[in-house]
Amino acid sequence: MSSTHTGIEWTDKTWNPTTGCNKVSPGCLHCYAEALTKRFPNNFKNGFDLTLHPERLAEPLKWRTPSRIFVNSMSDLFHEDVPLDFIQNVFEVIHKTPCHIYQILTKRPERLLELSSHLEFHENIWLGVSVENQNYVERINYLRQVPAAVRFLSCEPLLGELNLDLTDIHWVIVGGESGQKHRPLKTEWVEDIRNQCQEAEVAFFFKQIGGRTSKAGGRLLDGIIWEEMPDAWKQHQRKWGNTPVKLKVKKQNLAITA
Ligand code: SF4
Repeated sequence: MSSTHTGIEWTDKTWNPTTGCNKVSPGCLHCYAEALTKRFPNNFKNGFDLTLHPERLAEPLKWRTPSRIFVNSMSDLFHEDVPLDFIQNVFEVIHKTPCHIYQILTKRPERLLELSSHLEFHENIWLGVSVENQNYVERINYLRQVPAAVRFLSCEPLLGELNLDLTDIHWVIVGGESGQKHRPLKTEWVEDIRNQCQEAEVAFFFKQIGGRTSKAGGRLLDGIIWEEMPDAWKQHQRKWGNTPVKLKVKKQNLAITA
C-alpha cells in the first residue's frame, strides 16, 4: 500500500510515507484507510496506529513518468504524531522530484499552519483540506494562509449543504460516500457547490455520487462528467509532458534516513 496506481480519479499514484491515523470528524466515520488496514492485516503490522515508514521516503525517486501523487492516502501527514523533521524529509523528496505534482490532503489544518513557517512550499506541492459539512468550513481559513501553489478542498464524503468562501482556493473536489453504510448524497448539494465554483472561477471536479460501491451512482451531474483541474496542472503538463524523465538526484544525496 506504499506506492500504487490508484482508482482515485483525481490522482495517478499514492505514496504513503506514514500509515495509520485517528478519527477527528464525521467524515472519518467510515474511513477507507482504516478499513483497508483491517482487510489486509499482513500489510499493516501496526494496524491503524500511526506509523512512520522512513524506508518509503525515497520511493518517488524511482518514478520517472511525471505524475500526480496523492501523499498519504492511508494517513494524514499533519497528524500530531508525525514529527516535523519527518515532514521536512517528505518535502525534501518533493523538492528533488519536480516532475511530479504532490497532492497533500489533511483534516488537521491547524497543525499544517503551525508548522508552515518551517516548511518550503515548492511549486509542485498542492495542499488541501477536507470539508464534509458546514461545521468544518473553518479549515479553509487555515489553508488560505499556507503559501501553496495550489490550495484545494476535498468535500468527500459530502454530508450536507456547503456555503463556501472560495477566496484564494484553486480547486474543489466533491464526492459521495460509498460502502454498505454509506450516507446518501443529494445532487442539489453538489450542483450548488458547482455553481459556487463557477461564480468564483474555481476548478470543479465531481468524483462520484457513491452508493454501495464507489461506481454505483456514477459520476454524472446534469448529464456531464465534471473533471476540471487547476490551471497549474496544464502548466505542469506543458513543462514536463508525460514521457519518462531522467532524475538527477540519487537516494544517497537526500538527507533522509531510509
Ligand atoms: S483523517 Fe483521514 S485517514 Fe485519518 S481517520 Fe480521518 S478519514 Fe481516516
